[in-house]
Amino acid sequence: MKKIKMFLFLAVLVLALVPLNLFAESSQSNNLIAVYDVSKGEMINVEKIEKTDAEWKKELTPEQYHVTRQEGTERAFSHSYHHLKEKGMFKCSNCGTDLYSSDTKFDSGTGWPSFWAPVSEKNVGMKTDRKFFMLRTEVHCARCGAHLGHVFDDGPKPTGKRHCINGVALNFVPEKQD
Ligand SMILES: [Zn+2]
Repeated sequence: MKKIKMFLFLAVLVLALVPLNLFAESSQSNNLIAVYDVSKGEMINVEKIEKTDAEWKKELTPEQYHVTRQEGTERAFSHSYHHLKEKGMFKCSNCGTDLYSSDTKFDSGTGWPSFWAPVSEKNVGMKTDRKFFMLRTEVHCARCGAHLGHVFDDGPKPTGKRHCINGVALNFVPEKQD
């Protein structure tokens, strides 16, 4: 009987502490976000990457910096990734987060690498872009904020979306051959 009481006491204690613990974690880790890791096949928690402009400028090529940090656009057909047909993963060129799989890549004829879906909606962020008197959807890396390109509604099935992405924002990693 005593054992049961002790067990109940412990159970209540654990139940009382767990929510507190969760709360403490979520209030401390404002910088953690969940992204999908393709090689692990699961969501992982990673720290958001925040750097100053000067730091990014040092790490990136001038073209990468212009496109990913100043929301620039590379010239159409200027990057070899637009016609790359190899199997593999397109990761963020700024932070290495998995962004687009070759499985969702298609030839849009626009001269920019085009995909009908990211590896996970969690790995990218979107916002409304009103530059040049156009209403467009801007897409960026969820982890480091790197500007990737824009999303349009004229893509192929199954999503009907066209993620029009700058090649310099991506880093292609070919699939390992067994
Ligand atoms: Zn990134």
